[in-house]
Parts: sequence; structure tokens; C-alpha cells
Amino acid sequence: MNIFLETPIEFLKGVGSQRAELLKKELGISDFENLLNHFPFRYVDRSAYQKVADAPYSDTPLQLKGKIVSLKTTGVGRSKRLSGIFEDESGRIELIWFQGVDWVIKNISAGRIYQIYGKAKKYGSSYTIAHPEVTPWEKVDRSSGMQGVYSSTEKLSDKGLHTKGLSKLAVYLVEQIKGKIDETLPENVRRKFKLIDLEDAYVQIHRPESEEMARKAIFRLKFEELFFLQLELLHRKQISFEKARGFVFPKLSNHFNEFYNKKLPFDLTGAQKKVIKEIRKDVIGGKHMNRLLQGDVGSGKTLVALIAMLMAIDNNYQAALIAPTEILANQHFDGISELLLGLNINVALLTGSTKKKEREVLHEKLRSGEMNLLIGTHALLENVVQFHNLGMVVIDEQHRFGVAQRSKMWSKNVIPPHILIMTATPIPRTLAMTFYGDLEVSVIDELPPGRKPITTSHRNESQRARVFGFMKEEIALGRQIYIVYPLIEESASLDLNNLMEGFEAISRSFPLPNYKISMVHGRMKPKDKDFEMQRFVKGETQIMVATTVIEVGVNVPNASVMIIENAERFGLSQLHQLRGRVGRGADKSYCILMSSHKISKEAKKRIETMVRTQDGFEIAEVDLEIRGPGDIMGTQQSGDLNLKIADLAKDGPLVSIARDAARAILMDDLELLKTENLVLKTKLFKILRSRPNWGKIA
Ligand code: ADP
Ligand code: MG
Repeated sequence: MNIFLETPIEFLKGVGSQRAELLKKELGISDFENLLNHFPFRYVDRSAYQKVADAPYSDTPLQLKGKIVSLKTTGVGRSKRLSGIFEDESGRIELIWFQGVDWVIKNISAGRIYQIYGKAKKYGSSYTIAHPEVTPWEKVDRSSGMQGVYSSTEKLSDKGLHTKGLSKLAVYLVEQIKGKIDETLPENVRRKFKLIDLEDAYVQIHRPESEEMARKAIFRLKFEELFFLQLELLHRKQISFEKARGFVFPKLSNHFNEFYNKKLPFDLTGAQKKVIKEIRKDVIGGKHMNRLLQGDVGSGKTLVALIAMLMAIDNNYQAALIAPTEILANQHFDGISELLLGLNINVALLTGSTKKKEREVLHEKLRSGEMNLLIGTHALLENVVQFHNLGMVVIDEQHRFGVAQRSKMWSKNVIPPHILIMTATPIPRTLAMTFYGDLEVSVIDELPPGRKPITTSHRNESQRARVFGFMKEEIALGRQIYIVYPLIEESASLDLNNLMEGFEAISRSFPLPNYKISMVHGRMKPKDKDFEMQRFVKGETQIMVATTVIEVGVNVPNASVMIIENAERFGLSQLHQLRGRVGRGADKSYCILMSSHKISKEAKKRIETMVRTQDGFEIAEVDLEIRGPGDIMGTQQSGDLNLKIADLAKDGPLVSIARDAARAILMDDLELLKTENLVLKTKLFKILRSRPNWGKIA
């Protein structure tokens, strides 16, 4: 406990109970520590002065020195305003206040010299500065040119706590902190990363001596924030890892070898091999595996999953694979059954469509252990589905699975089965390290050889005839085509109209009997959807007109063209997922992004990125830059992190550095028992106590 830091903010000079309440309500600042951690988001150089005559040439705020020659109030109540004439040797300019007039009148008077700071705007033929900051010349702080700019709110500004007012409070506070801030990082860490000490950092961030010191302060505080976040995550993970016992699969016998040597249809890529080794290490180690497997669409995750499941089966355990949709479950079942043909392994499919009779038989076979491998949808999670000895669970397309569902699988055996979660939406490294801190992460960063790049282009409405012409050529070559329309909840009916109009236009341009068209959208019954989907999968139709329901995992190798309508309305990761539906067969594939002429800057950036690259991780990085972590991971999760100064989108490299630093310390001293790590332990335990339920942020 630090009494100084916990001092209620109202006891800071210049605050008082009224402002204290407002600070708490508006910015969550209730004690000294909170104010110290309300950092400026930029600085202005207050050592330079301009002249009134500069007003027409400057689009940044002016800092002036001169006299207020007169002051005048007009109006009453809400329309009360105050105007003044300010003068320096170059000329005169009007100052005006619409709000907080009474407060200003009390604090300034005509005839004195002031420092004025504010942006000049042109009204009619002359310039005016509205709501300038006004400081009596004798009170101007001339020791530092740099002044912090703080975020404030209208209500606070009304009470004199605009950015300048907040800066004054912060400066006043840091003037008193000498000797009162406990260092939180051990000396060796500070030395290694060239970090100034915490007290200096607080002083310099609020009242920097120079630009360089401001930079050092920011670096120290960002490091601090990210380092303790990573220390917390790694510590939680390490502790749960130490505790969680897992099944041991020591043998790699018949099935595995037979599959690997005889059935594997191609050589594994280096990346696939690397991940299989990682999984293997987990399952012979005696600890519970909880692993996230990231790999771009088409990178061959299924095969890795299958091999992981064979490890369990070879050791007389059962395995299960869960897919987010029935179509995907069917595809996995077909593909895996074919791969395992001739091996003595019983594979079954369980989905919502499985008949009751079949289901009962299956339940029995799962309980007796006769069934080795179960593939299915959410149906698999139901309590009636009990296993003899479930040892490995693979969850495909993690995005549709919540923590609650994950934990349901845990309870399907006395010891939780090993869990492998596969996602095709690459998550930028910094986010994965932070949001999936409790999972081990494996990455397949290599596509199987021979994949032809997908040619991606951007087209607009005036080029539609050409696009249709191209479609006809492709169909003549025997290929199939997807046309995808956006579907956003708020305008669902509008989108449905778009889809219908599109469908009609396509039907007119691609008449029967030469062209057959499937259509799938969210308003259809699952059974009808599936029927239409299957027609396309089987090659009975050449064109699939759909909303984004086809986004997840569908595999139609003969489909070689993906056309995305209103591409400007899709997010980057969605565009990338959609494009991944083509390029799965031997044929050259294409992705055409249709948009209107006029699109936003961001939409343009998304489309340009898609045209430029096919690298899912690169796309994920751009996505992070555009949307920010809150949008990608969910604002709630991001909010839980409560970052004050570091920015996961911009400080990626520092996240890695902080994680490595935290890991090095824990590897050497997990319990933080060494004397030099005592300071870490103190702060870490404070953090752990403050969010006890935060272990499973993923
Ligand atoms: P995803 O990672 O998107 O789930 P899949 O597992 O569906 O990818 O694999 C995509 C395609 O690549 C499949 O047809 C699969 O058979 C093939 N594939 C997987 N691994 C290899 C490999 N090492 N060499 C060649 N083809 C492979
Ligand atoms: Mg897949």
C-alpha cells in the first residue's frame, strides 16, 4: 500500500470536493495514482510565441503574449457571453467565451499582461479566438517548453479543467512525488532495456524537460504496462499448466505409422511437421494440452488434426472433431473416412440431422469405446453424448466457439482431454500473445506446394458486362463460381433485396439450360440451405449466389472464381476468408471485388490490401491497424485489458519484447522468490488480486 498514491484526489491543491466528484465521474480519477496515470496524449511546444499578425497564416493554435485591453459581457443566462480585445505589438484580436463566463470574469482583468493560447478562426473579415487558455504573465511556467495535452470532457472544461487545467493539476502533483513512488522493475531489467526509473517517468511524462525525456518516459511507462500484463498472463498460464494433468500418449504405433507411411497422400509441409512435433511433445509430457493452431485457409490444418487424433487412438483413447456447421462436419467426415480407409479405425458422424435410431446406436458405441473417432457439430456437446475414454478434442474454426463450449468438452472425461483449437483467421501476433495468453500457439505459416496464387482484382459497376463475360468463359471451361453479397443485420431486408435483384440479373444473363444457379441466404430453412449447397458441391449448379453463410470452411475444389459484391462493405478478414473458398483445386483461380465508384478511404485500403497480398498474417496486421484491437477481439475483452498508454495495434514490437522479458524472469524464478524480483512479486500479486476471474480471457 502506498498512502501517497491512494490519497483521494480532492486533497490535491486546486481540486476540492466538487471538482473531485466530476473528475471521478468523467474520467474515473479518484486518487493521486489515477491522476498520475491520466497521461497526456501529445505535447505542444510552449516555448515559442507567435504574433497576432500571424493569425491568418497558422492553422495550429497560437501562443501570444500581450495585454487584454478590454472586456465586455453581453446577454444573460444561457446566452451570456464575454468578449475581450487582446493586443500585442503586431495588432489586435478578439477573444470570446460562450461558456464558463462567470469563472473567466473572476479570474482575468483588463489592463494586464497575459499569455494566450488558442486557435484563431476567421469570422467575417476579422479573426477571433474562442475559449483561449489565459495565464497571467507572471504565472507562466517558462522552465519547460513542452506541455502535455490531456483528454478532458465538456463538463470538466466548464469547471476550468480543460486540457490546460488538467496539465496544471498533473504538474502540481508530480512536483510533490519525490521519494514517494516505489520502483516496480528490478534494476537489471531497467538496465537491460535502458528504462528510466518510475518516479522520473511520471515526472517527465507530465512535465517533460525535453522531447527526448518525454520519449523516455513514454517508453518506460509503456514497457511497464505491457511487461506486467505479460507477466500476469504467463504466470497464470504457468500455474494452471503446472496443475493440469493430462493424458499421456507414449506410443506411436500401428495406425499412426500405417497412415504416415502408406496413406498420406503427399509429403507434409515443413510447417505441418513442426506443429505435429509441438503437439507430440505436449501429449507425451503428462501435462494437459490447450493449444491454438493458426493457419491460413488451405494451409492443411485438417491433416495435422487427424494426426493428433491418431496419437490418441493409438494409445486406446477416443478422439473427437467439432466443426461449426453441418456442411463442414460432413466434409470432414467424408475426407477423413477416405483417408482412413483400410485402417482399422471406426469413424462416425454426429450432427443435428442424425436420426434418433442411429444416434442411440452411436451413443452406445461411444460409451463402450468401440467408436474411435467422432466427427460432428455442436450436437456432440450434449450431455447424452458420453465417451468411454475421450483423449483428444479438435475444434475447427475457433471463432464460433465460446469458452463455455470449450469447457464442456473438458468435462467429458475424468481428466480433461487434450484440446486443439484450429482457426483460419490469422490473429496478429501481438493480439494472440495477449488475448490467448492462456493457450499455447502453433502456427502453420506455409502453404502446401503447387498452390497457384489467386488473381485478385477490383472492378466497379461500369465493368460488370466484362465480368459477366469472364464468368461465361470460366463456366465454359467447366468451372464453378461463387457470387457473395453482404448481409448486415440492421439492413437485412435491404440486403436481401440486393441479393434477389442480383440473382435476377444473373438469371437473365445466364439463362437455363446452359447455366444452373444455386442460391443460399440466411432467411432460408437450414434444410433448404443445405440442399442448395449440396447441389453446388456436387457440381449440379455452376453458380452459387449467396450471402456470407458460405464463409466458413466449405471446400469445392472445382470453384475457381469468387465474386464479392459490395466488397467495400466487408471487413478485411471476411474478404480474406471468402477468397480462401477458391484456389483449392488445380485450376487458376480468381477473386473479383466489386464496389461502387465512391468508397471510403478505409474501404479502399482494405481492397488494395486484398489485391496486393494473399498472406493472411499481413492482412491481419493491416486489419488491426484499421480497426484496432477492440473491434477485432471484442471491445469487452479489450476493455478488460485496461491499457492506459500502450497500444496493441501500434506497439507490436514492444509487446514481444515485454513478453520475452517477462518469460525470461519466470523461467529463472517462477515463484519470484529471488530478492531482486521481490518488487515484481509485489505488483504482480496486486494485479492478480484485482482480477481473480481473468484467467480465461480467451
Ligand atoms: P485448412 O487449413 O484450410 O483447413 P485443409 O486442411 O482443408 O486446409 O487443406 C486444404 C487442402 O490442402 C486439402 O485439399 C488438403 O488435402 C491439402 N493438403 C494438406 N496438406 C497438404 C500437403 N502437405 N501437401 C499437399 N496438399 C496438402
Ligand atoms: Mg479447415
